[in-house]
Amino acid sequence: MTEKLYDADAYLWEFSATVVECHAAGDGFDVILDRTAFFPEGGGQAGDEGTLDGIPVTDVQISQGIVSHRTPSPFSVGTQVTGRVCGEERFRRMQNHSGEHVVSGIVHSLLDYENVGFHLGDGAMTMDYSGELSSEDLRRVEDLANRAVWENRPIRCCYPSEDELAALSYRSKKELTEAVRIVTVEGIDTCACCAPHVRSTGEIGAIVITDAIRWKGGTRLTVRCGSDALAEYRALREDEKSLSNLFSAPRGQIFPVAEKLQKDYADLRRAYGRAGKENALLRLEALPACEGNLCLVLPDADADTLRAAANGGIEKCTGAFVALSGNDAEGYRYVISARGGLRAMTKAINGALNGRGGGSDVMIQGSFNASEQIICDYFKEFQI
Ligand SMILES: [Zn+2]
Repeated sequence: MTEKLYDADAYLWEFSATVVECHAAGDGFDVILDRTAFFPEGGGQAGDEGTLDGIPVTDVQISQGIVSHRTPSPFSVGTQVTGRVCGEERFRRMQNHSGEHVVSGIVHSLLDYENVGFHLGDGAMTMDYSGELSSEDLRRVEDLANRAVWENRPIRCCYPSEDELAALSYRSKKELTEAVRIVTVEGIDTCACCAPHVRSTGEIGAIVITDAIRWKGGTRLTVRCGSDALAEYRALREDEKSLSNLFSAPRGQIFPVAEKLQKDYADLRRAYGRAGKENALLRLEALPACEGNLCLVLPDADADTLRAAANGGIEKCTGAFVALSGNDAEGYRYVISARGGLRAMTKAINGALNGRGGGSDVMIQGSFNASEQIICDYFKEFQI
């Protein structure tokens, strides 16, 4: 069994130990020490980062009480090494993990939901609950969690005796067979947990619920605590500043300004559509009447305009009228009108012009994947 220095002192960033085993594993070596301050991956939390004698530790795992440290180069058995845990990252995780206990304890006492999932790595922390939380619930949980921080409640970790444990009511995600470590946030939560925690809730800093989604019949929360909450706030401020500059709107006025711009844009799109239609119909009017088929390309026309053009265009020719919008690179949308017989020709038209679509005997619509030249040449010869 490896002596777990992180159990006794969660703030131990540097330690000395003796190498008791080292063997090739995966892309490097697994180094086993007589004792370690590296917390291994487990219970949803990633393993600690750091170095052994300056060599980076890329992964930390525990199996049957033995902690192994993955390193890119080997160590000789019996040598003394100095281990350094990345304290900044570990403290960030302790802030988040202790914050999780506070939130889970409050959710449990308010709503009687269980914490059924937990993930804490480099990114945001997520936790899953067995029931749904309304927006009022979320607000209340967040308020109470932050109140627990302001009250600076002690957090204690201990291994109770079997008798003490039997008398204790605590949250646990699974049936535990080894010695059970109990983490108590005074007055808020009692939970079985093997991870390092901060000494008191004041060290957690702000607790913010940044997202809540329905998850397997319950709720998945994304929560940020301490330095992560500060980073989140700064990112939001940066976003807000950029939007404020972009919309020339002071803080608090960005949404109404953006909403008005969106409405103005929708009005402009509608006006643009109307102008395009009028323009198309004017172009149509100017066309001389002709024998046979007639093609008209209206590059930016919408579906409505194409239909209106096809309806009017049939009066300008004796054959089929072909209204097209689009370009050679992206293809063309078409509406074709005729005095009859179109339905039977649709397959041949689409086959010749790499197209798709259909309709009635007097009007078909769809798209062609061919150049304007090829389409117009095809309809010069086409007989209906
Ligand atoms: Zn825990």
